[in-house]
Amino acid sequence: MAVEARLQHALERLAFTPVLLVCMDFDGTLAPLTDRAEDARALPAAGEALAGLTDLPETRTALVSGRALASLRDVASPDERTLLVASHGAETWIGPDAEPLELDDQQRDLLGVVTASVRRVVDAHPGTSLEEKPAGVVLHTRRAEPEVGDAATDEAVRELSTMDGVHVMQGKKVVEASVVSASKGDGLATLRELTGATGILFAGDDVTDETAFAALAPGDVGVKVGDGDTAAAYRAEDPEHVAELLSTVLRLRRDALDTPPLDRERVGPSLDE
Ligand SMILES: [Mg+2]
Repeated sequence: MAVEARLQHALERLAFTPVLLVCMDFDGTLAPLTDRAEDARALPAAGEALAGLTDLPETRTALVSGRALASLRDVASPDERTLLVASHGAETWIGPDAEPLELDDQQRDLLGVVTASVRRVVDAHPGTSLEEKPAGVVLHTRRAEPEVGDAATDEAVRELSTMDGVHVMQGKKVVEASVVSASKGDGLATLRELTGATGILFAGDDVTDETAFAALAPGDVGVKVGDGDTAAAYRAEDPEHVAELLSTVLRLRRDALDTPPLDRERVGPSLDE
């Protein structure tokens, strides 16, 4: 599995950006999907490449995930320098001084109503399960019979969509309701500002990653993992392919940083090229 030529070319250009931010979705991107969410782990090659990038100067790494922050930490064991955007942007970890998520009274009451609603759906549909997050609730249907899972999904979406202040997102075998308006795209914009990134690589596999692809700017590189419609300009087949891509970026970035500034101007592509 080689990195396709067009993507390779885009990565070669990106590697010369002054401040590089490498943002990765976790499940289905760094880590193969698993039946039990707690079993997911990044492929070793992907983890090593990301760690290598984290060690480079003028290079930042981030994980942008739908998982709750605590859950993301458990499965990803991120380097403390890796920035974290969790719960689809509702929770962030951007350093020791960052403020934790606080719900107001109204949001807390609403979260109670949402949780009760999803609990009723789960009780009526065997094999489905409920996950509580700081700002929302998730219905998981991966372990249910397909028709039971579909019925649960329909019912949950129907009920949750009528609630004011509740943001409903559908992903692969999950329906998520959040009482905080957030998206991975918002998360990506926050990371761009915070890091002063001049170029971003983002990869993700799910529908919820589309807001992040839409938040990319010219010169950034968006990679959709797997099949499905996407706003991303490039594709990877699976997490193995993503690991290879990250190794490629690590090598290219090292080379770019080793290039003396004068040569860098000569070989480094300009943005309007
Ligand atoms: Mg994913």
